[in-house]
Amino acid sequence: MRDYLLAAQERGREAARTGHVSRQVPALADVAATRFAMAVATVDGAHAHIGDSDTGFSIQSVSKLFALCALLRHDPDAWTEVGWGPTDAGYGSVADLERNHWRPRNPFVNPGALVVTDRLLMHTGDAVNATIELIRCGHPGAPVYSDSLVAQSEMVADHRNSAIAHVLAEHGRLINDIDRILPQYFAQCAITASVQTIARAGLFLADRTGGHVVLDAATVRRVNAVLLTSGMYGAAGDIAYRIGLPAKSGIGGGVLAVMPGRGTVCVWSPPLDGDGNSAGGVTAIEEFARLAGWSVF
Ligand code: GLU
Repeated sequence: MRDYLLAAQERGREAARTGHVSRQVPALADVAATRFAMAVATVDGAHAHIGDSDTGFSIQSVSKLFALCALLRHDPDAWTEVGWGPTDAGYGSVADLERNHWRPRNPFVNPGALVVTDRLLMHTGDAVNATIELIRCGHPGAPVYSDSLVAQSEMVADHRNSAIAHVLAEHGRLINDIDRILPQYFAQCAITASVQTIARAGLFLADRTGGHVVLDAATVRRVNAVLLTSGMYGAAGDIAYRIGLPAKSGIGGGVLAVMPGRGTVCVWSPPLDGDGNSAGGVTAIEEFARLAGWSVF
């Protein structure tokens, strides 16, 4: 496994040079482009990691996956409110939300993620903590926290998520006040954890033995299906073709991919490609999956 990771790292680091670190959240704009970390966790308990694998990174939209799963534990029918179909309109499109009659296309575009945070807040009183707790389940004792400087920085700079939240509220799609939802959403995106922790946290999506039961098998299959079609912004076809695994990425440069029945692999490499996915992360996972023979196809 370690040899595969080393080969993947080499390819990943090379590809990272073609990308650009996101400036969307001002507090993350100066993260060093050369940071690189990769971890694998398998359902039979093996772990391997390389690079900055103990360092926490801002998981950003990877948190949308864990928030969704935390919500599905409370309400397995939450899909009806957020949808499950793909879109090529981008993750922050108000026009797409309007075209779809104010029902988000899926839980990974920002309108869907805001509805997920809203409902999770309703069920738990603290969507951020519920998301952190689910992440911690896979790696007890590991540091997982929401970075308040990152959350605050996005809150001050943001207009788009506020606009989406107002459109959702206008059409009765939110239960809580926007003033409660947005700080929770930004704090959820600002969750910080290492690749080792995120790889282990995602294992319940790969496990078919019943060893890490968080959600029932049918729900896990659905989550993986929606990850495959909508987890990597507009690049689903490219990711299916190159990697063949359900995956979720974030603008912090993190990517988590799931091989059902086998395990998970997580990479952190900050520079993003033209689709908004980690350039090094996608290439490293592509190489790792090729060497390990991981593909759902
Ligand atoms: N906090 C960012 C936003 O809501 C996350 C974007 C991302 O990672 O896709 O826009």
